[in-house]
Amino acid sequence: MKRVAVLGATGSIGKQALEIVDAHPELELVAAASGAQPIDGLAPLTQVGGDLAELLERAEPDIVLNAVVGFAGLGPTLWALEHGVTLALANKESLVAAGELALGARERGGGLLLPVDSEHSAALQCLEGRRLETVQSLVLTASGGPFRGRAREELSDVTPAEALAHPTWNMGPKITIDSATLANKGLELIEAHFLFGLEYERVEVVVQPTSVVHALVRFRDGAALAHLGYPDMRVPISYALTYPERAATPVAPLDLAGGLVLEFEPPDLETFPLLALARRAGEQGGTYPCAYNAANEVAVTAFVEGRLPFLGMPALVEETLAAVDGTPARDREELIEADAAARRLAEREVGALSRS
Ligand code: NAD
Ligand code: MG
Repeated sequence: MKRVAVLGATGSIGKQALEIVDAHPELELVAAASGAQPIDGLAPLTQVGGDLAELLERAEPDIVLNAVVGFAGLGPTLWALEHGVTLALANKESLVAAGELALGARERGGGLLLPVDSEHSAALQCLEGRRLETVQSLVLTASGGPFRGRAREELSDVTPAEALAHPTWNMGPKITIDSATLANKGLELIEAHFLFGLEYERVEVVVQPTSVVHALVRFRDGAALAHLGYPDMRVPISYALTYPERAATPVAPLDLAGGLVLEFEPPDLETFPLLALARRAGEQGGTYPCAYNAANEVAVTAFVEGRLPFLGMPALVEETLAAVDGTPARDREELIEADAAARRLAEREVGALSRS
């Protein structure tokens, strides 16, 4: 039996995780948490909002599935890593923001960190058991989002409703907006750097519009391994929750003979500057990734609330990154302060940008 805590249980990932837990008698749901929606009776221990580390202390899980959205997922990520409890991580924002602090906690705790993000789950499966010096690069795929192929000028008046219509994945609102700006791929680039210990030069991004290829790894001998499957998050969720068993899922096998066409194209960095900004923030290191994430969260909220135009999002993040000092955080308190400082700067920028 594995005792599982599902955090963010009412969300897109959380609900699919509950489905996987239900389907496997060897997985026991011991705790569930949401941000605001009531979840009474969903698990022996439930919590709405509040301190998630406290809930985990009481629940004593073997696996924490962190599917909280945003920086709010930091506490349970650090708790699981510090305690050597397997972390099935959907909440990429916490790893991006905490970076080296999270890796330090993993080192001390000695537990497993299993990505639930589809690209990183795929990458892990291609990389597992390989020596890093044999890896030429990791290639993350992007769908390109709903605005793939458009020019920058065509994006000035797109609405939240248009940005929320994702072509291949059905996900929560924050990551859907992130997919429309390519900030999601930016966060994933930084996530990959910390998960796999690859320098940024060795992480590529390529657009694959149907989201069938989730990641590729190129090796120094010219071989490339790819991970394919229909876009369905139950596959990476199940992989993380049943690792290393790789339990069966109801997801359909690829229909190859039916004609499977795979097309790739480079990402448009001019139209979607948040991808290049993430790469730069990652390379700068320190708390730049934390500030990138914080400013992006502020930008997404402001855009969804109609306080910021679509193109205001990258502008806001760029201005915020230029204004912060990026000093590395020595502990959790300093990280939380860096996040808060970036949010204050970003909120001030929202006012300035929405007036211009
Ligand atoms: P969602 O908006 O559908 O759900 C978010 C969940 O987090 C909800 O249950 C909400 O109540 C909970 N939550 C929010 N704030 C909280 C807080 N302070 N404390 C406790 N719970 C809180 O989001 P989602 O699409 O399921 O995404 C969740 C995470 O998984 C994000 O980090 C996202 O980037 C990542 N992710 C999602 C997908 C996907 O297909 N949806 C794919 C890859 C990665
Ligand atoms: Mg992803």
